[in-house]
Amino acid sequence: MSLKFKCPKCDSEKLECCEDGPYISEITNIDDEGDFDYGPIEGSGSTVDGFQCAQCGYVLQDKEGNNLDMNKEVVEWIKKHCEQPEEYIDPRYLDDNTDK
Ligand SMILES: [Zn+2]
Repeated sequence: MSLKFKCPKCDSEKLECCEDGPYISEITNIDDEGDFDYGPIEGSGSTVDGFQCAQCGYVLQDKEGNNLDMNKEVVEWIKKHCEQPEEYIDPRYLDDNTDK
């Protein structure tokens, strides 16, 4: 299943993967299994430096302020921070929003 990235800052839906080095490639599909599709520049085997919004450069970080560098972390981040199309209902998302 595909997830939809939406930047909390500028609402852009384009997510980029920054690698250690001059490579930045747009992520064209985010699969919730952590299987991402990348744009024209393929990962060259170098280390992933982080994920950011292609529009404003918003960097995805965890609660401690560390850059996310694992696909799985990005999947969790998106599930938590980005509204998904209606047919996608994550039970954990609902739990988070339960009024107590
Ligand atoms: Zn943005």
